[in-house]
Amino acid sequence: MDIKKLTIASLHEGLIAKDFSAREVTQEYVKAIDANDKNVGAYLTRMNDAAIAAAAEVDAAIAAGKELSPLAGVPLAVKDNMLIKGVTATSASKMLEHYEAAYDATVIEKLKFERAVFLGKTNLDEFAMGSSTENSAFHVTKNPHDGTRVAGGSSGGSAAAVAAGMALAGLGSDTGGSIRQPAAFCGVVGMKPTYGTVSRFGLTAMASSLDQIGPFTKTVEDAKILFHAIKGKDVHDATSIDVVMKPFHYAPKKEDIKKLKIGIPKEYFIEGIDPAVTKGVEEAITKLKKLGFTFKEVSLPHTKYALSVYYIIMPAEVSTNLARLDGIRYSRDVKGAKKLNELYLKNRAHGFGPETRRRVLLGTFVLSSGYYDAYYAKAQKVRRLIKQDFDEAFKEVDVILSPVTPTPAFKIGEKTSDPLSMYLSDIFTIPAPLAGIPAISIPVKKYTVGSGELPVAFQLMGKHFHEADILGIGEMYEEE
Ligand code: GLN
Repeated sequence: MDIKKLTIASLHEGLIAKDFSAREVTQEYVKAIDANDKNVGAYLTRMNDAAIAAAAEVDAAIAAGKELSPLAGVPLAVKDNMLIKGVTATSASKMLEHYEAAYDATVIEKLKFERAVFLGKTNLDEFAMGSSTENSAFHVTKNPHDGTRVAGGSSGGSAAAVAAGMALAGLGSDTGGSIRQPAAFCGVVGMKPTYGTVSRFGLTAMASSLDQIGPFTKTVEDAKILFHAIKGKDVHDATSIDVVMKPFHYAPKKEDIKKLKIGIPKEYFIEGIDPAVTKGVEEAITKLKKLGFTFKEVSLPHTKYALSVYYIIMPAEVSTNLARLDGIRYSRDVKGAKKLNELYLKNRAHGFGPETRRRVLLGTFVLSSGYYDAYYAKAQKVRRLIKQDFDEAFKEVDVILSPVTPTPAFKIGEKTSDPLSMYLSDIFTIPAPLAGIPAISIPVKKYTVGSGELPVAFQLMGKHFHEADILGIGEMYEEE
């Protein structure tokens, strides 16, 4: 068995045909992590014993003739801001270094029910704030294609684990691009579902009106399988919804997919995009045209405000969400504080890294009386205009195609001293979560960048709850 070639779909077939056991597969992955993660740094916590035990249960189920879910025995990497009962969930922060989850996140509960296997918890930018996994309080995750470059972020650990063959698939969270951007940098598939389709219960909140959990996989087909397993209404998350996803059927007909019209937003093809990215996106368009898809130029005129709006709304929500981390609840306790206020100050000053502190300060400022209307309320209004842009464009086309990032993976350290240049790398991924729509990053191939080769991807954005459209086009592209 060559685990590099496995997909969720082929693993399932192999288990049923008894080509290998779930235990053997999991052991191979444990070995791969032992051998390679020194160089990549994808994992923060390993779960070897639990993983082997879970795999053994899958084998027992097979032996007992039980019906197997497509995810049974699939070894997964889980971003360390999601809770797995009894396992630390640090969010890559010193603040939560010793915090052990008391319950399972809903996505984890669902995947346990399907008998998936968890290999461990992966690295991220602290509390999912960043675009390179350099903001982790523990270590930087390196890009498996070039160790001098970032894996992207904030879900860099899960993306790198899948790309380096250290997990068959993974989970990440996307608030402004944290699934799609690292997926693009590492050459794997990453999808952010429609806001509300996947429960956020047990996901350590960053910005609650934007956060969504989604899959990292090697293929679009696998992303579909994993997405279906984690979606659905949850009593623990009031923003989750059970919608009949129209036209969402598990396997839409190719003839129907082919009828979908693809829009190209002129505001996304700006100066300063790396030539490798332009080439990659053009190649994807050419392939899709060959498959018979029709294209049309569309306009999303408020795109230019997306970054500003995001950097007001997101920190506002961050500042309120992180207020609960006071050094009393959720572990961490700096010794020697004599007064309550001193305890708060000491814990928060030592527990949070510089980027987290920056965003808490910014968020507290935009929410403060006197500034609330000028910043936060205004940003919410512009957010509505950005959503309306998409509503208008989706009257003319079904799906929108764009680059995922302006450049391929950048060098480690290249942007750390200039937060603004880091923020700008999310310019194409931020509008979708602001509008709440689904979006997927699909790898094209590697292109020459400098003296090496790096993956380039394209993005498909769909209407609310039309995951079937972007997945359907993605699957056809992939088959081609
Ligand atoms: N890179 C973006 C940020 O720094 C997005 C993060 C995310 O999606 N979690 O906020």
